Formats: sequence, C-alpha cells, structure tokens
Amino acid sequence: MPSVDIKSMFLDEIITDFEKLSLPPYKAKQVFRWLSKGAQNFDEMSDLSIELRNTLKTKYYISKVNIEKKLISAYDGTIKYLFKLDDGEYIESVIMKYHHGYSICISTQVGCKMGCKFCATGKSGFSRNLTPAEMLSQVQTAELDNNIRISNIVLMGMGEPLDNYDNVVRFLKLVSSPDGMNIGMRHISLSTCGIIDKIYDLAKEKFQLTLSVSLHAPNNVIRNKIMPINNGFDIDELLKACRFYIEKTNRRISFEYAMISGLNDSTECALELSKKLRSMLCHVNLIPVNSSGDNDGYKKSDWKALENFSGVLLKTGIPVTVRRTLGSDINASCGQLRRNIGQKRGRFSENIRKN
Ligand code: SAH
Ligand code: SF4
Repeated sequence: MPSVDIKSMFLDEIITDFEKLSLPPYKAKQVFRWLSKGAQNFDEMSDLSIELRNTLKTKYYISKVNIEKKLISAYDGTIKYLFKLDDGEYIESVIMKYHHGYSICISTQVGCKMGCKFCATGKSGFSRNLTPAEMLSQVQTAELDNNIRISNIVLMGMGEPLDNYDNVVRFLKLVSSPDGMNIGMRHISLSTCGIIDKIYDLAKEKFQLTLSVSLHAPNNVIRNKIMPINNGFDIDELLKACRFYIEKTNRRISFEYAMISGLNDSTECALELSKKLRSMLCHVNLIPVNSSGDNDGYKKSDWKALENFSGVLLKTGIPVTVRRTLGSDINASCGQLRRNIGQKRGRFSENIRKN
C-alpha cells in the first residue's frame, strides 16, 4: 500500500506533486474538493478518468475513521461516536446541537501523555498522535452519517492538541481552507492543559481561533496535585504565555475550571483566581467535575459552591459562565467510552455498526 495519505496534504502540495505527473492544477483542485467532501476512495471521484484514479491509487492512500459505536443521548440528542482507526486504535468524537447549529468535539491523539488525575483519557495512557487527515475525517464522517453541516469545531476530545502541534496546525489550515471545508478559525476552539512553549508558537500563527486553557486551580499547590504538567510549567509562567497570546491575537482566552468539591472551590480559591486573572482579556468557564468515570474519587462541587465561586468572580470583575453539560447519560466526556468499550451503561439508544 502507498505510504502517503493524500488527505493530509495541502492543495498546493498536491498541485506540485501532480506537476511531476504532468497533471494540470485543476485536477489537483478536483481531488482536493472530493477529499474535503469526505471521499473515502478514488473511485468515488467520478469526474476523474478511470486511468487517473488508478494512477492515484498507486501513489496515495486515503485514511478513514470507521464508526464502531454510536450513542445518542435520550435527553438532549447529543451524539457520541467511538471511531476505529485503520490501525485498530479507537478514538471518540461528540456532536452537540446548539441554537446556532452543530458543534463537534474531536480528538487529537489516541490517549494522552499528560495524566491529569480527574481525566479518563489521561488514565488510559498514550498510543499515538492523530494525523491531520484523521482529524478531518471525524468531522466529515459525522456530517455524512447524520446528513448535517457542522459549523463549529472544538479540539477538546481525547488528547492534548499542543502535544501534537504540527499535525494540529496542519489540520487547522486544512479545515479552514476556502478551497476545502471552509470552517473559519472563529468557529474553532482549541483546549490545552498549558504547554507553554507551544502557546507562544500558536500565538505567532495569529489564528483567530478561541484558545481555552484548562487551569482548574488558582495556585501551584493545587494545580500540582491534579495536573502533572504543572510540575514542569509553573502557573505564573503559563499566565504570562496567555498574556502574550492575547497581545498577539487580540482574542479573549477562555479558562476552563473544573470544580472539585473541597479541593479548588472555596471563596479563597475564587479570590486568588480573580487576582491572578485581573485585567486580562479572558473569561472563566466553570464545569462541575464529571465524576462518572474513574477519577481518583474527585467529587463535583454542589450548586451552592458553584454559585458562590461564580459570584465572587463576577463581583471582582471576571466574566464567568457555568458550562452546560450535554450528553450526561452517554458519558459524553471524552475518554470514557474508549475505556468502557463493550460495556453498556446509562440510558441511551444504541446503534452499533461495523464498517
Ligand atoms: N487536553 C486538552 C483537551 C482535552 S480535555 C485539555 O486538557 O485542555 C478537554 C477538557 O475536559 C479539559 O478542560 C479537561 O480539563 C476537561 N476534563 C477532563 N476530565 C474531566 C472531568 N472528569 N470533568 C470535567 N472536565 C474534565
Ligand atoms: Fe490529557 Fe486533557 Fe485529559 Fe489532561 S485533561 S489528561 S491534558 S486529555
């Protein structure tokens, strides 16, 4: 089998390759358009001659993601996929319906190296990075399977996007390409646990995407306990990188803060966080920690603690929201399904398909 996955290539790279085969640029554009629509093999490209399709088959392959399992929430219609990759690995994606359209949460790695204590993905170890094509395929397969157009993408599924920097940047350029899927950067969010040097690199790209930083603590003592990454990258250094990001891109950063009962949800924590974020162009997103998976016994904060915490932030001038949890009956937090593969839980309608 050829070793080059044409779906991970930029249009200009395909054009250059095609020149060597004496093929005109418009043929490359035709192929790129098919790939952007989710074509899974060259025979689907009906406006190419059979001869050309056969030539392409000898030079390139097209990777895909196969639907292994599809769960639909009985409460809010949130859809969760377990995808099997061509090498037998599994990843997850979640589709959520909002008033403004459909949003997909995609994975960027098989597993994750970062080992956050409350996270199911972190518990399952790391296998490999996803390719740009495998990230694109999650979006396209979800669109084709549900006959919908996805308008927003969040890189908040399995994996740490900035630990797979080059492939993620290539994906971002491909998915936003006007010749391709044309999903604008302003409709894309990227969530990171805070890999500082890569935040500097991303800032220099000046993408207009939304950066979400998973902070989860107002100081090093608490952050070190739950996020091993903080042992190498201090919270003040992280916030310095965030300020640089804002300065370069003029974009508001969203800080994710998982509320864990008795650990990071006190009034003192709220005041300390507020002081750290003062005068920053930012917004805090409070999420009651999801405790349905295996997360070392961390319990979600109650509503009183959430209300108190958000009240302190608001009073001290920090914009804050409490994140709506969707798909709670289908373990919509990424990493849970891959760990539970084969195990039935909760109330959902299940749809198992083998490709
Ligand atoms: N690796 C990236 C993106 C994937 S995790 C990151 O850490 O940001 C996506 C989000 O889910 C992060 O904010 C992460 O902290 C959060 N998360 C992981 N496990 C969780 C849990 N059990 N409850 C609530 N949020 C969780
Ligand atoms: Fe990795 Fe993010 Fe989970 Fe931490 S929270 S282990 S960085 S996926």
